[in-house]
Amino acid sequence: MAGPLNLLAETEKAQALLQTFSTASLVAGAGLGLFCLVADHVLQLPLLLHHPWLWAALDNGAHAIVGFWSWAIVIGLRKRSDFYEVVLAGFLASVIDLDHLYLAGSLWPKDVRALSQRPPLHCSTLIPALCFALRLLMWALRLKDSWCSLPWLLFLSLASHHVRDGARHGLWVCPLGNTAPISYWLHVVMTATLPHLCSVLMYLTGTRDMISTKHGVAIDV
Ligand SMILES: [Zn+2]
Repeated sequence: MAGPLNLLAETEKAQALLQTFSTASLVAGAGLGLFCLVADHVLQLPLLLHHPWLWAALDNGAHAIVGFWSWAIVIGLRKRSDFYEVVLAGFLASVIDLDHLYLAGSLWPKDVRALSQRPPLHCSTLIPALCFALRLLMWALRLKDSWCSLPWLLFLSLASHHVRDGARHGLWVCPLGNTAPISYWLHVVMTATLPHLCSVLMYLTGTRDMISTKHGVAIDV
């Protein structure tokens, strides 16, 4: 009996991977890239450049939407708990900018812009370290399989933020230093394809199979 069951499991895995690259998923990725173009265009309007508070709020909102959209591509939006997950992804993608305020010790945009160093949560080396630490914590607390995607949600939220910031400031790979700014179009392509990369990595590590089981149906968005 093991043969047919294994074959069924492998077929389901292959379907989950194929659906990562379904038309709907690819269109949603292209839409995410388009959103980046529109958001960056809006953020360069002279009107906003003269209103730093509004510019900072809209820029942070763009981070949140990119995080929200990216995780929606990975899991799809089929039920209420999916919605909670994408809201959490959007929240995490935006909240890390609070470390600018912490480092500046001020709420004023001019003080934040005057910072000579990048704040701690903008160190890209921290992303795998934090995700791995969260995975270990979940393992130590013996959390159920329904939590299995949390480290990947954290990864995608932080990585999408760092890539978006990277177009302006480069990536800070501490302790090695800072890269040159990511070219604009490369940043758009990376943002649009990160959810798919995340899906493939989840498939390779077996997390995606657990999510498929949790959702009860194959994932196609
Ligand atoms: Zn940032």
